[in-house]
Amino acid sequence: MEFYEEFFENAKGKSLSELLRLRTELSKKYKLKGLPDLIRLFSHANNEQRRDLKDIKIKPMRSLSGVTPIAIMTKPGKCPEQARCVYCPGGLKSFFGNVPKSYTGNEPASMRAKRNEYDAVLQIFNRLENYVLLNHDIGKCDVIIMGGTFTNFSKQYKDEFVADIYFAFNKFSELFFETSLEKSFHGERKTRVEINFEKFYKFFELGMDFRSPERIEKVKENVLHLKKENLNLEKEQLKNESSNVRCIGLTIETRPDCCSLKQCNEMLEYGVTRVELGIQSVYDSQLKKVKRGHLNKESIEAIKRLKNLGFKINLHYMLGLPSWTIKKDISGLKKLFFDERYRPDMLKIYPCLVMPGTELYEDYKNKKFKPMKLNDAAGVISEFKRDVPRYVRIMRIQRDISKGIIDGVNKTNLRQYVNALMLKKKIKCKCIRCREIKNCDISNYNLNVLEYNASCGKEFFISIDANDKIIGFCRLRFVNESLRKEITLDSGIIRELHVYGKSVKLGEKGEIQHHGFGKMLVKKAEEICLKHNKKKILVISGIGVKGYYKKLGYDYDGVYMSKAVIILK
Ligand code: SF4
Ligand SMILES: [Zn+2]
Repeated sequence: MEFYEEFFENAKGKSLSELLRLRTELSKKYKLKGLPDLIRLFSHANNEQRRDLKDIKIKPMRSLSGVTPIAIMTKPGKCPEQARCVYCPGGLKSFFGNVPKSYTGNEPASMRAKRNEYDAVLQIFNRLENYVLLNHDIGKCDVIIMGGTFTNFSKQYKDEFVADIYFAFNKFSELFFETSLEKSFHGERKTRVEINFEKFYKFFELGMDFRSPERIEKVKENVLHLKKENLNLEKEQLKNESSNVRCIGLTIETRPDCCSLKQCNEMLEYGVTRVELGIQSVYDSQLKKVKRGHLNKESIEAIKRLKNLGFKINLHYMLGLPSWTIKKDISGLKKLFFDERYRPDMLKIYPCLVMPGTELYEDYKNKKFKPMKLNDAAGVISEFKRDVPRYVRIMRIQRDISKGIIDGVNKTNLRQYVNALMLKKKIKCKCIRCREIKNCDISNYNLNVLEYNASCGKEFFISIDANDKIIGFCRLRFVNESLRKEITLDSGIIRELHVYGKSVKLGEKGEIQHHGFGKMLVKKAEEICLKHNKKKILVISGIGVKGYYKKLGYDYDGVYMSKAVIILK
């Protein structure tokens, strides 16, 4: 009997750890050279065997926040003329070759993108294929477009890239999902939506060796064959609203000076819901030294504009930039929250690295720059975490670059160092990420509202908390300016609604999701609007979530969804 045959014969009913043990035993028995990775292993399962394995979820953390993240990259391109950031690796004809700006080409996401020719459809099909093989539900996908300043690409490139994203989801749904009628235990007729694995196997050539170049090329051919020119973005978006693979959020990366109202409006048309904004420092002197090409004034204006249009904002901030000191960096980070002109919803912190091929490397060689090291970075971040507000989510504290670093924080486990320091100093981070509920008891929960001023407007952070854990939250904003006709001064805008819990198939009940928490949060936001005499409540909604808001009584309102605020007796 062959390895795979014997594996699947004995796999039924086993937990993930038992399967891993079985894999080790059989690998020894069949004298395999190494352990086949799980995705390769699972790619050998036939339809029936796959059903036996359907409850095995690999890397469940990826989907813990209720959605499936999909990171894709744009082709290597240029940043605007004024951006001469001295620390930034990559780009066209860089030390690392032709790679997207600010990447080295060795990060998992850039390697995947390169393999897929930076094509959005190829990249999405590739991610979905992997997720399906690993038994993840792909009904709700959250897409991030990485690879430098997205808004700086040509209009045509951006239009095609974004339309391709929705097209890829719609096509995947069309090709592999099937709806059937089945009788429930009580004899009622229910519709069941499932992946047709026979079609899936055939399309992804799973009869061939999973990692063989022949298979990879063949699959690419199959996907590229589907591609269409001149897609209509609006049509694809509309289709995606009821697709089995929905795009529930779209994030782009940009700079404060590439965020004009025109560019923001374009992002809204694309269905962007979150913007990753690189401000890097709150000190003009540092911004000048690193040749960022913009100052704080632009950062503050961009943050305000984005918030007033309803976007969620994830700020990028760098530690250890030229002229850094520990005190300066802690103050800089703290300023992001005590100064109401910043106050981001999310934050990514990156200690500055010395990378080959950069101007900073020359300064480093000439002893003009000394980078921040691991201990200093851990000290700064742990001190900063002492006073972090409850409405922010600290997403990252380090770049995912691990190869090619000349000097700086070159260990990938900075988070562990920070945690150890925090434990020692008895610091507890109150950010969303640290309080996210992970299968805890949710029987005793409270609805809380945190009100704060930010970027000239008023923010309401409405959360459902169980003890110190957060089950879900909603960000409501009262704007101070009307930047589009949909947003009047007497309206409130929901910038984010998020409920934590396992990712589940649309229409199925998850452990936490679909227990009415989302509805509860929206209702509270509507009540706040009513109390403040607002006439309308708007939502910036991911394309694939529009249907959800329709069910809550919202209707299309330009690029948003909205509802009149009325007194219910
Ligand atoms: S804007 Fe960002 S990607 Fe462009 S050069 Fe500066 S750091 Fe690099
Ligand atoms: Zn935290």
